[in-house]
Amino acid sequence: MSVANEPSFRDSVDLMFNRAVSLLDLSPGLEEKIRVCNATYTVRFGVRLRGKIQTFTGYRSVHSEHMEPVKGGIRYAPSVNQNEVEALAALMTYKCALVEAPFGGSKGGLCIDPTEFEEHELELITRRFAYELAKRDLIHPSQNVPAPDMGTGEREMAWIADQYARMNTTDINARACVTGKPLNAGGIAGRVEATGRGVQYALQEFFRDARDIEKAGLSGSLDGKRVIVQGLGNVGYHAAKFLSEEDGCKVIGVIERDGAVVSADGLDIEALRHWIVNHGGVKGFPDATYVEDGSKVLEEDCDILVPAAMEGVINLTNAERIKAPLIIEAANGPVTAGADDVLRKKGTVIIPDMYANAGGVTVSYFEWVKNLSHIRFGRMQRRQEEARHQLVVDQLEALSDSMGKSWSLSPDFKQKYLKGAGELELVRSGLDDTMRIAYQSMRDIWHDREDVTDLRTAAYLVSIQKVAASYKAKGL
Ligand code: GLU
Repeated sequence: MSVANEPSFRDSVDLMFNRAVSLLDLSPGLEEKIRVCNATYTVRFGVRLRGKIQTFTGYRSVHSEHMEPVKGGIRYAPSVNQNEVEALAALMTYKCALVEAPFGGSKGGLCIDPTEFEEHELELITRRFAYELAKRDLIHPSQNVPAPDMGTGEREMAWIADQYARMNTTDINARACVTGKPLNAGGIAGRVEATGRGVQYALQEFFRDARDIEKAGLSGSLDGKRVIVQGLGNVGYHAAKFLSEEDGCKVIGVIERDGAVVSADGLDIEALRHWIVNHGGVKGFPDATYVEDGSKVLEEDCDILVPAAMEGVINLTNAERIKAPLIIEAANGPVTAGADDVLRKKGTVIIPDMYANAGGVTVSYFEWVKNLSHIRFGRMQRRQEEARHQLVVDQLEALSDSMGKSWSLSPDFKQKYLKGAGELELVRSGLDDTMRIAYQSMRDIWHDREDVTDLRTAAYLVSIQKVAASYKAKGL
């Protein structure tokens, strides 16, 4: 989304970077090296569809190779352009550094409206795009590892993985060439929910510190907080579902392409998702009020606003009217640099994209490691762990018997304690740990440095310092 009189998405990311880097003591040369996008490859290829050749334009941008492989999703949307792909690649560099995923930043995009094509046509297009990228090592287990983004998912990643394997028949690590694959094609449990799960873990960590809650002018815990979600795609849906089903939040508004639905009592996210799948939009969803101009709902009174769709939705045209005291950027770049200035001055707390939506790439990292190690997480230790727990339970029960059963272990405790961790539990635990540690690194700077008044600047400072250290160690 480009907004009149505002810098482009790419410039917006650079402006935010510049704000942060001015607080660091980096040499101007290194500063420039980190900011610029290393390379962007544009490809135009033809695919014969419905009896005629159709030409498509795609991009793969590599922002920083201070660590390899470089990492980042592939987006399918008609609005994809070089500027957007480069902005998203830059965000990937900072995101990976912040959550300590050992990758450089990259991003890809294809200008296409996927809804206009049949599945077999999309497969042909995806395979051809993958061929063009793999031929130039822009898909490669040790060079460049794509993943899903807007408009793509497990299905496309499986086609890409298979295409790469066909072109590299003896590469034993072929499956690690892309992440976000279905489980049966080398994927990992918990990858689909990962970004939304990460948003939940991020908010949980935010609400663990009374100082942070106070800075946002809120009180208490996540329980009962009124949430508005913009975009009920993969990220928005999972975040809304987990926050409402597990943390006691009330999702009082959901904004979609065809408008918004609001309900002060809280929306049933599972039912709403089904409604959208079956009716193509939110209009008509029972027990809620439909608002045709969905963007107005961004400005409604709530505790937490979750933009989870496109970049630039909060911009100079609406920033002043945003009432939410806390915004968590589940999407990449939903707040423009101009809007960021306005909101900062108003005291709105923003949990920035490069941290808030890093759950996806974090679990992608686990998937890549799983592919390279050729073994499912938990396979070696799960039963051993259960056997050791059983020993403790047996011993305690024998003790209880000897004491005339005056006490006993509850069946619920026994069931939970005895269960060894499978892949999903381990992935969630790794993700939770990652989100906590990354947040704590931002929080320390936010509270300790007087010249840092927002979490975005803190996030950039952590990331830039890590990338700079990497370049310095290389001798650059
Ligand atoms: N497209 C996602 C993002 O923007 C995931 C990237 C990945 O897993 O490599 O973070």
